[in-house]
Amino acid sequence: MPEILPSDLWGRSAYRMLGNRAPWTKKIRPDALAKAKNRCELCGAKEERLICHDKWTYDDTNAIATLSGFEIHCGNCDLVTHLGRMVQVSNDPESIVLAAVIHLNNVNGCKTLASTSIIKEAYSLWEKRNKKKWKVCVAPELVSSYPELEVLPKFIPDAPYPPPTQMTGEADILKFVSSGNPTETMNAAWIVATNKGRTKKATGRTGKWLLFVAEKSVDNTWQNLKKAVEAGKLWKEAKVSTALFTRDRSYVICVYTYDHDDAKDVARIREYLREMGFKRPITYKTDDQTSSGVYSDATGGIAKYRS
Ligand SMILES: [Zn+2]
Repeated sequence: MPEILPSDLWGRSAYRMLGNRAPWTKKIRPDALAKAKNRCELCGAKEERLICHDKWTYDDTNAIATLSGFEIHCGNCDLVTHLGRMVQVSNDPESIVLAAVIHLNNVNGCKTLASTSIIKEAYSLWEKRNKKKWKVCVAPELVSSYPELEVLPKFIPDAPYPPPTQMTGEADILKFVSSGNPTETMNAAWIVATNKGRTKKATGRTGKWLLFVAEKSVDNTWQNLKKAVEAGKLWKEAKVSTALFTRDRSYVICVYTYDHDDAKDVARIREYLREMGFKRPITYKTDDQTSSGVYSDATGGIAKYRS
């Protein structure tokens, strides 16, 4: 964990190829769920929206990817598995990486740094695999169970990868909602607070202060922060991760600012957060660190400011 799909395979899933038709919904998915006893096969999570994931094996020497079976994933494990394309299609890739890090922390009981290095390792393997042109085939025993899969190697997706809205297939992991408490929200990955009034225009140099908050205080903290955003005390947006990502440890809150080069404004918002009770040092990251974020550090290790 995690395995990131080489981009040649993006969009070439059994699900997309077969559409929503009978073989998938009547056979493949129910068989996989039964085999997994309705739990995530990676982390054991039991949740309503489990995802049936195509399991590939890789012959790195000959660049052959073989569809070898199916594996049931929870939303979070699926996010980690699809990190490569999630990061590419998201307009907030850093949050995606953070969410993956948080999930790895929870699942493996490891610290953020260890999770980050797991992701880095997966990425470097992914980069290596992306340099090759992959041939796709289906394991013979799978074809004998599900003859419909025989055409998969010939299936070419219309687009190199599907647009964001179709991205997640069965689970909408990238969904945002605008109300509720983080610990009670399971239908979306983030809760967003916005200020609808006149705020400074985003400059293309937006960034955010990152706050890590324990479960016991996150609901309260978030409601206060939301009020502050709505009252125009901060900038126009903040968001918090939800229980969908964070089972029992720390939640992350991103408090955005309009321009990371406006150090005075960044400091003003920091000061406001301090008055709200965030007295311990926190880090600030720019949104453009994000494109390189996966390769460097998702933990604030390349923070533009610390205060
Ligand atoms: Zn899982």
